[in-house]
Amino acid sequence: MPVEVSPSGTTRVAAVIGDPVRHSLSPVIFNAAFRALALDWVFVAFEVARGDHRRALDGVRALGIDGLSVTMPHKTAVAGCVDRLSAEAAALGAVNCVTRDGAELVGHNTDGAGFVQALEAEAGFEPAGRVCAVLGAGGAARAVVLALARAGAAKVLVVNRSAERGQAAAALAGEAGVPADQPALAGADLIVNATPVGMADQQGLPLDTGLLRPGQVVADLIYVPAETPLLREARNRGLVAVNGVGMLVHQAALQFEQFTGQPPPLEAMRAAVRDRLAAG
Ligand code: NDP
Repeated sequence: MPVEVSPSGTTRVAAVIGDPVRHSLSPVIFNAAFRALALDWVFVAFEVARGDHRRALDGVRALGIDGLSVTMPHKTAVAGCVDRLSAEAAALGAVNCVTRDGAELVGHNTDGAGFVQALEAEAGFEPAGRVCAVLGAGGAARAVVLALARAGAAKVLVVNRSAERGQAAAALAGEAGVPADQPALAGADLIVNATPVGMADQQGLPLDTGLLRPGQVVADLIYVPAETPLLREARNRGLVAVNGVGMLVHQAALQFEQFTGQPPPLEAMRAAVRDRLAAG
């Protein structure tokens, strides 16, 4: 049973900054994890306006905040003003969490590794030696492209609406990265939708589903709705299809490990997301 720990003078604080941030599931996920391990920690959300990231980081130093999650619109700006960056955060030029190392603030990016972990856990898919395709070239797509390449994908095809951003994202995968057009999707082992097409306010399909082939795995980074039109079409064809909840949970789990040094209670974190999404 989770143990309730009331905040006291010794409670350690972690937080997320973003704008908007009130919808963020991070407090739900992290506080569930702290409760599951009876840790004397609390996680809160701070609405920080675009451009105020530097003052927020000063606050982290001054208040001794022990872990900071970073969401839109601050991911790129924060990468430009921490003391050090992890290899992933440096390659992406984007930070999704900050830890303190003595007086230094260190920026990390767990989005891509979280995606790959979720893919292995939920779809049994290991990227090594496989042809992977990513639709989109924004922040989430870039993190996924880099992580797939680091996990040993033979090819990472990037299909994007605007060619220039697609090329820049594909370059993150080095020699494995290939800017591509939709027909190339038919030859992929994995197709990842990293565009917002399929969200509640952007219903529709991000690809021609006639390109789906038996044996492919389809991952959508979207988690509301839980089943996008793409996932429905993939499942109707008997394909393994997973939504973005796994990535959300695993990227947070990797942050939790960075913040606390403890193995993350994944099941408690997953259940917290499931319950909150079911509550609407
Ligand atoms: P960005 O706005 O940074 O990038 C969006 C990408 O999608 C761009 O490449 C854009 O193309 C493309 N795109 C947007 N609209 C369309 C359209 N109508 N048709 C074709 N392509 C389109 O978004 P993010 O990378 O931050 O997020 C992308 C998705 O991933 C969102 O649905 C988000 O909710 C989800 N996400 C999920 C996470 C999780 O933990 N599960 C974490 C982060 C994001 P162009 O370059 O041409 O503009």
